[in-house]
Amino acid sequence: MDDREGSLPFNFADGKVDPGLIAEVYDRQETGLWIFDIDHMRVLWANHKALEITDSETLEELQSRDMGADMSHSVEQRLRQYQTDFTKHDVSFSETWTLYPKGKARVLQVTMSGIRLRDGRMALLCEGRDHQEQQPDTLRSVEALMHTTVMISLFSKDGNPLYRNTASRAARVSLDTSFEEQFVSPNEAQDLLKLIEKERTSRIVVNILTREGTRWHELNMRTCNDSVTGQPVYLVSEIDVTELHETKERAQYLASHDALTGLSNRTYLKERLNQVMQNALDKNLTATLYLVDLDDFKMVNDSMGHAAGDALLQLVAAKLMDLVGPEDIVARLGGDEFLICHLEKPDNNYSDWFGRALLKGFEPHQVIEGKPRHVGLSIGYAHYPDDGSNIDQLMRHADLALYQAKTDPNNKCVRFREKMRRLRDEHLAVKKDLERAIHQNQFVLHFQPITSTRSDRVVAAEALIRWRHPEKGLIAPNEFIPIAEETGLINEIGDWVGRNVASMQTRLKDLDLSIPLSLNVSPRQLSDPLFVSRMQALPIETATDPELISLELTESVLLGDIPHAFETLSALKKTGYRIVIDDFGTGYSNLAYLHNYPIDGIKIDRVFMEDIASGGAIVKLILSLAKALGAQVVAEGVETIDERSWLSRNDCTLYQGFLYSKPVPEDRFISMLQTQVKIAAM
Ligand code: C2E
Ligand code: MG
Ligand code: MG
Repeated sequence: MDDREGSLPFNFADGKVDPGLIAEVYDRQETGLWIFDIDHMRVLWANHKALEITDSETLEELQSRDMGADMSHSVEQRLRQYQTDFTKHDVSFSETWTLYPKGKARVLQVTMSGIRLRDGRMALLCEGRDHQEQQPDTLRSVEALMHTTVMISLFSKDGNPLYRNTASRAARVSLDTSFEEQFVSPNEAQDLLKLIEKERTSRIVVNILTREGTRWHELNMRTCNDSVTGQPVYLVSEIDVTELHETKERAQYLASHDALTGLSNRTYLKERLNQVMQNALDKNLTATLYLVDLDDFKMVNDSMGHAAGDALLQLVAAKLMDLVGPEDIVARLGGDEFLICHLEKPDNNYSDWFGRALLKGFEPHQVIEGKPRHVGLSIGYAHYPDDGSNIDQLMRHADLALYQAKTDPNNKCVRFREKMRRLRDEHLAVKKDLERAIHQNQFVLHFQPITSTRSDRVVAAEALIRWRHPEKGLIAPNEFIPIAEETGLINEIGDWVGRNVASMQTRLKDLDLSIPLSLNVSPRQLSDPLFVSRMQALPIETATDPELISLELTESVLLGDIPHAFETLSALKKTGYRIVIDDFGTGYSNLAYLHNYPIDGIKIDRVFMEDIASGGAIVKLILSLAKALGAQVVAEGVETIDERSWLSRNDCTLYQGFLYSKPVPEDRFISMLQTQVKIAAM
């Protein structure tokens, strides 16, 4: 048995075949066979036919060739893809190759399958047959299909894959992933299939599960008949558009969100608000628009730096998000202003409660850059549809309410009321009128004498502005100065007053009636960086003596509300002006502050005349402290002889009030002075 078997090339006993015989069998094949080690780009083994195909003298010569040298990147990638596919699946692939041994093209049909090497690596077993005549176009299209980065797949109607080109295979989690399984959201696959049934063709950008994770693919899909079976199939071509899509999304996000806080910005907000309002109408609800503004934000920015300001805004944004519901809109409108939109049942008290809940949320100290700080809010709100029929109107109305909340220390959450709009309208009308008044020179100065309590002689006067309105007649300053201050028109008006006081000064000098004149300067003027230089130029331009001009400032100067107040006052004083604190005692300042500023005089507010009637303890105190500081005192609003006598008895030498005279026009004032001179001469 052993003998007989030994003479045969087959060893039936252990199933082994003589390797030499096997080699001969392979060499006789009409199919070129070779094993390709893609990791080292070498042919490991080849049969005779393969040597001929590759035009190699010997196997050793073929084995020594570096196949990677001329291989394009895409071919290499494709081969590596096969290697991966073979590791996971028992499959084979057929391709048409054109080889150029010695420069002459040789077209082969190559079938590849995986073969595991002893060291465990996966190599490619290639079988190459001379290709039957093929149309060049067919050859090229087959080649193109292999090389393209477009993923092309063919699915049967039940979603099973029939064909995938190399790029498509490379992208799949598994080769037998069905059409639906590729989609992150199966619903999208269903919708697409439904659409295809109707339209036959479709294009979408959709989230696809790939070997690299979730990616955005643009899918072009259509139905056609399979060229092999003739059955209806889906032909899908896909490209990866993740980068483009994400860039677009990012750009869209940046355009619609505030970079600092991540909240919606103004642009995006309108879109969202429109939806909420529609919702409110549909469901019979009220949409409430809350405008939230930080108190003293500028101070945080100025005193703690911009980084702290940014941190504060981020903190507020996060806190507001915390305080509102998931359906509510929170947006940053710019600066320190935020918006919240909230849908609620039509109930008048709810919004107030909600606003107060926001305020309460900010009651505890917040920590900004490690430092605890109180963050104050002001809230104005308006209801849709009751307080406004569109977004713009609603925003304007909430803004009016906010304005009120900002100016009222006792009510920080205010609902819009119709009267606010009326007031604002009047305000705007006055502003327009005021602008015209400036251009048409409709202002006049009246002068009120400042008189000695002892002799009743006029020793000085205060210039007080009036507006000679073409229709409304003479308007008192209290009716337009606040609006002029708010709108900034006060700077122009203040200039006018300065020049006219100077020209009055010249007129008095020419008449030999020179006395000190005072004019009122509002805080807004004092904050204007150009104010000092203008006041420095005034005496030069008008040839007047600044020492004969007093500037009346309100107490706010002493309270630190005006930046660089000390420097400004010092510069004005250096120019020669006298500095006087007006309406003293009505603000929250105290006399001790006076000490820190270059002050020449104070005017005791007229409310203290009532104090005189009941003993005048406060006035006495002010007088003695002013004396200690060397400041001259004028009592304002003196209307009775008793008041004047009391002042005289208590060493207050100057007064101003209706007792002597109301403010009078320039000419009347001059004749008043002239009469006084005549009487003195008698
Ligand atoms: P003020 O500077 O305290 O001026 C005194 C105000 O008290 C004047 O009112 C004057 O008419 C009034 N008055 C004087 N004596 C008496 C009196 O015995 N009894 C009563 N009840 N009132 C008296 P006026 O002219 O209406 O001015 C009001 C305020 O308008 C001024 O208060 C001042 O703050 C402001 N103002 C007036 N002119 C100007 C100006 O040119 N520029 C600026 N920025 N403000 C001005
Ligand atoms: Mg005054
Ligand atoms: Mg006053």
